[in-house]
Amino acid sequence: MTTTQVSSEAHTQYKTKAYAAANAKSSLAPITIPRRDPGEHDVQIEILFCGICHSDFHTVRGEWSAMPTVYPCVPGHEIVGRVTKVGSEVTKFKTGDIAAVGCMVDSDGNCPECQAGLEQYCPHMTLTYNSPDVHLGGITYGGYSDSIVVKDHFVLQVPSNLNLAGAAPLLCAGITTYSPMRHWGVTKGKKVGVVGLGGLGHMAVKIAHALGAHVVVFTTSPNKKEDALRLGADEVVISRNTDEMSKHVNSFDFILDAVSAEHDINAYLQLLHRDGNMTLVGAPDKPHAVAAFSLIFKRRSLSGSNIGGIEETQEMLDFCGKNNITADVEVIPIQKVNEAYERMSRADVKYRFSIDMASLKSE
Ligand SMILES: [Zn+2]
Ligand SMILES: [Zn+2]
Repeated sequence: MTTTQVSSEAHTQYKTKAYAAANAKSSLAPITIPRRDPGEHDVQIEILFCGICHSDFHTVRGEWSAMPTVYPCVPGHEIVGRVTKVGSEVTKFKTGDIAAVGCMVDSDGNCPECQAGLEQYCPHMTLTYNSPDVHLGGITYGGYSDSIVVKDHFVLQVPSNLNLAGAAPLLCAGITTYSPMRHWGVTKGKKVGVVGLGGLGHMAVKIAHALGAHVVVFTTSPNKKEDALRLGADEVVISRNTDEMSKHVNSFDFILDAVSAEHDINAYLQLLHRDGNMTLVGAPDKPHAVAAFSLIFKRRSLSGSNIGGIEETQEMLDFCGKNNITADVEVIPIQKVNEAYERMSRADVKYRFSIDMASLKSE
């Protein structure tokens, strides 16, 4: 008996084109990978767009010691595409539908987390890439690819009014910011702070605004002010300006911190009012220093949050459909992916790259 058993359902496989990193130092380059032929609960999707998430970049470079990268690595977990085949037991999708896949492709389905619809916290959750593949052996391969085959429970429906290139980043950046805001009760009239205006931050601003909150963006760059207001912020605070910061002490219901560079979180904690919460979705390399009194005096709390469950991801997509929310994207062909990584490492993107996967057909 082994713990990672290959599924009893025997899978034939087919080959599909993809882009992969061969090791932590190499650029991404064309490769051919296997995918399983769809089983009875599977959905096969021709990938149309795939967003580029910072996780892709860190995984490709092998920068997360807690999750060592297995090479070749095909990243991508912001996937939107067209259904090309469904298994006999699939009822939610049919050939031709527009469908989406996010950061997860499987979980055990029966633990307390799964039962609560929180598959993202399941101890046996399978990530879209760089997780053991129970069907074919090896590891899972992500969305920088022609096609993908995913269990129906993990496939999402995309509202028909949304631009598909801009919808792709909703599958990670969108749900990562939507989920904590829903959990901590962001609604009409709440005062919400967003720290950092990057891929995650710009989604947070759009979503918080659509939820009816009073949105304040904290940024170190005065030149982002105009953009923040355009995206839906009511106020912009230059976080290095202590006078501007002090005007907001004890006033926030909720603050979302999307910064993954080192910074002082106590400066933000003191802006929360009694029982206010600050949630981290950015992950700096070094641990944050937290002054206990920042939390004690006003019963404030500090927490973290990881993407969202499948049901909530669908709810987020429907919410974005209703409010016509997509990410601000720069669409690129797959051949420009290495350049895009280089630009992303200098924060030179507004605010997400979305790969037009039709470009892979010419490889
Ligand atoms: Zn991501
Ligand atoms: Zn589970």
